[in-house]
Amino acid sequence: MNYFPVFFDLTAQKVLVVGGGEVALRKVELLLRSGASVTVVAPDIHPELMQHSADGRLTLAPREFAPEDLAGARLVIVATSHRALNRWIANLSESRSIPVNVVDDREASRFIVPAIVDRDPVLVAVGTSGTSPVLARRLRERLETLIPRRIGEAALWLRSLRRAAKSQLRDIAARRRFFEALIDGPAMRRFIEGDAQGAGRIAQQLLSRSANARRPAGEVTLVGAGPGDPELLTLKALRALQDADVILHDRLVSSAVLDMARRDAMRICVGKAAGSIGNTQAQINQLLIEHASAGKRVVRLKGGDPFIFGRGGEELEALAAARIDFSVVPGITAAAGCAAYAGIPLTHRDHAHSVSFVTGHADKSGQEPDWRALSAPGHTAVFYMGLARVEHIVDKLLAHGAAQNLPAGIIVQGTLPQQRVIVATLATLADAAARAAPESPALLVVGEVVALHEKLAWFSDSATFSDSATDHSSKSAG
Ligand code: SAH
Repeated sequence: MNYFPVFFDLTAQKVLVVGGGEVALRKVELLLRSGASVTVVAPDIHPELMQHSADGRLTLAPREFAPEDLAGARLVIVATSHRALNRWIANLSESRSIPVNVVDDREASRFIVPAIVDRDPVLVAVGTSGTSPVLARRLRERLETLIPRRIGEAALWLRSLRRAAKSQLRDIAARRRFFEALIDGPAMRRFIEGDAQGAGRIAQQLLSRSANARRPAGEVTLVGAGPGDPELLTLKALRALQDADVILHDRLVSSAVLDMARRDAMRICVGKAAGSIGNTQAQINQLLIEHASAGKRVVRLKGGDPFIFGRGGEELEALAAARIDFSVVPGITAAAGCAAYAGIPLTHRDHAHSVSFVTGHADKSGQEPDWRALSAPGHTAVFYMGLARVEHIVDKLLAHGAAQNLPAGIIVQGTLPQQRVIVATLATLADAAARAAPESPALLVVGEVVALHEKLAWFSDSATFSDSATDHSSKSAG
């Protein structure tokens, strides 16, 4: 991040504006609304600036800028049409440690001014770090349509409720829940629609109900985070993440997904990437129980779907035994996500009528999957955690009747921008994998449907490997 976003209290602070044209006028009007004490220096002054001065709202110095003008300024905005002059003033400001903005000259500016959605006192600021003012404006326009007109008044109304909430609800968490229920519920809706009285009544009811409620019991939501692309989160998953007090997540969960969580939620990575030393399952269960028992809303976030090779069931059993409330939000499992993004339909009228999700990990008890069923024609087998055992899996399938030329593929980091798809046959899969050196996570797919990748690949960031190629070539599909 190149810029630190702040809202600056300029009440009665001197702000120097150098320049007296249209551009300066626009900045001055915004500054005046913020209560700043504005001084404008310029030889030629826009008539509206003259008027503001006549109204006693700002100080005018109708002359050239002089370095002494900087004395006492908290902020400087430079808006003359002379680039060299602008830069000279910027340098002088810098040397006096006064933050300076030169309009339309990002390099010479210490701070830049965002595009804003103005619902005073609610302000939404949009910045692109100067990369694209047009994009900032477009985003701002979109936000304009999304953010209710009366949100500013609503904010003032919420402030007016703070004192009552503070006297009736002693702990901070209870107050937060009260305001969340208020904002998410019918009270806020009424207020936005213009029924301030109705909103006030509902708020009072909610407040007295909250005051009489016992401390809420904690709960655990087991949430599937999907295979990687954060946009594959469900709406429920997003909501759970934004309501969470504590998030316990696996290493497999991408940072882009974690970025969607409430900023001040406590995040705990409980490891458990294959082959790493993470927390033991017993320790994870214990953490879940501890935080929920302390009254927290806990999200247990797992890659893909929590009930598919996610040990979600075991964690719920531990919670049930400890009498902790829980719920489950399913996620898009790796097989579904990766197959979709690789253009490999898992079933197909002409090629596959059934599909299995199989763990490629050796079972502790030495129990093997039903290799004969997995090798049957018209079947798609998807192996999770199979990367380390590609050769073993291929040998078993061949030994149980699968054809040498049966299409087989590996989807690496599926649904992420760096997704790769390696397509081969059972005979060549091990070699192709060795050549491509896939990193984890990776999924093995075996079955005729894998051949459809060639025709149906659409995820344009993907690079495709094939068994005949010696190096990878970029897929140009769609
Ligand atoms: N609960 C998860 C699976 C956990 S097991 C789910 O439903 O998806 C972990 C295995 O999932 C990895 O070894 C890998 O085989 C597979 N996997 C998860 N995310 C993946 C991804 N983005 N691309 C490829 N394979 C993935």
